[in-house]
Amino acid sequence: DLMHGMTTEEICDITRKHNYGTWRYQKAWKPIQMVDAQDSHIIDGNGKRYLDFSSQLMCMNLGHKNAAVIESIAAQARELPYAMPGYATATRAELSKLLLEVLPSALTKFFFATSGTEANEAAFKIARMYTGKSKIIARYRSYHGSTTGSIAATGDPRRWAMEPGGKGPGIIFSPEVNCYRCPIKHTYPQCGIACADYLEHMIRNESDVAAVIVEPIVGTNGVLVPPDEYFPTLRKICDDNNVLMIVDEVMTGWGRTGKWFAVDHWGIQPDILVTAKGITSAYVPLGLTATTQKIADFFVDHFFAHGHTYEAHPMTLAPAVATIHEMQRLNLVDRAAELGPYIEAKLQDLKLRHPSIGDIRGKGLFWALDLVKNRDTKEPFNTYADKVAGIPSLVDQIAGKMMADGVTCQAWVSHFVIAPPLIITKEEIDLGIAVLDKHLHLADEKCSR
Ligand code: PLP
Repeated sequence: DLMHGMTTEEICDITRKHNYGTWRYQKAWKPIQMVDAQDSHIIDGNGKRYLDFSSQLMCMNLGHKNAAVIESIAAQARELPYAMPGYATATRAELSKLLLEVLPSALTKFFFATSGTEANEAAFKIARMYTGKSKIIARYRSYHGSTTGSIAATGDPRRWAMEPGGKGPGIIFSPEVNCYRCPIKHTYPQCGIACADYLEHMIRNESDVAAVIVEPIVGTNGVLVPPDEYFPTLRKICDDNNVLMIVDEVMTGWGRTGKWFAVDHWGIQPDILVTAKGITSAYVPLGLTATTQKIADFFVDHFFAHGHTYEAHPMTLAPAVATIHEMQRLNLVDRAAELGPYIEAKLQDLKLRHPSIGDIRGKGLFWALDLVKNRDTKEPFNTYADKVAGIPSLVDQIAGKMMADGVTCQAWVSHFVIAPPLIITKEEIDLGIAVLDKHLHLADEKCSR
């Protein structure tokens, strides 16, 4: 079968030869062609169907080929494909009204970019312009994007390739919140959330701190859920020290964790919220930087020195309107909350039977399965250094076996991120878990006890 006049082999060959495969060795990139998709499934060039157990890159919260979102894109193209950002459009006004309904209530002013990376860059500039201060405190084991500023604020080793020359000024790192492998070797709850208090210690020992940026639940680096006291404590520390709180909800937003936004679990109002991915279910690229009215008021008589040609692009905003309407119509935030305990029970059951599972963590439809060689030492099977050296990780090998059995799941270093479309059925969850179950023996056999 030809597509666009090419066979599936030609399509894959041209892709490999003329395009960059990202975050990987080029010679190790063997892309398969994806030809179609529906709901929680994708279909490859040979007609094989796969359950999409991580919503591609934890972004297709509505699932594939939602008819209303597709129609919104077509309708916007017919009505007005582009207007420069200085004009008002009905689509931007309609989306702004909807955002006021679903975002934490303090956030009333919006800047639209075209990725999570860009939305974080905007957040940093806004925080620096508003406070007149320069430093941003980020945490280790975080990811905030791939361009100069956002990769400099990324606490995980993806930053290393850009150092030392590319290291942005004014970024400092605090220990991550990670109760399974606490970087300061404390145990919850006796720790008294020392990781949050340490942020205050940093702020007081630095000058010129504009903001703290955190993923409310850390995503790629292993779905690290903070203890319930963490966010109220952090909010108080930011207020007491006159530092802005930026929350990066690129992955955790849009119902993923069983609330519209993850900070809603703790009733926290951030100063700036950044999101992307699920905002359009990834049908088109859109990022959002949302700020409080207090920050908005500052710019009434100060120059807002930021913008893009594709900022507030009508084609990116229309599907966000449709996505919010579809999430409301299908009640998907509640659905993610309800399916959370269901998937958690399944993962707990896996943990009982597989010694290689060190920890399971998550909320709603956002889970990590953390694989270890030894439950006592918690030693992972691989490290980021293996990835950079081109050594295939054990989780990648297991993901490959799962793929052969018709399930795609994101693997990262030594864990899986399970984040299916919020429309997934219980039967589909059962299937995904059964396929994981079938292949985890590959890790169990390599356990040292
Ligand atoms: N922030 C977080 C928490 C993310 O998970 C990501 C992407 O995975 C980004 C920022 C960067 O977003 P994008 O890939 O859209 O630039």
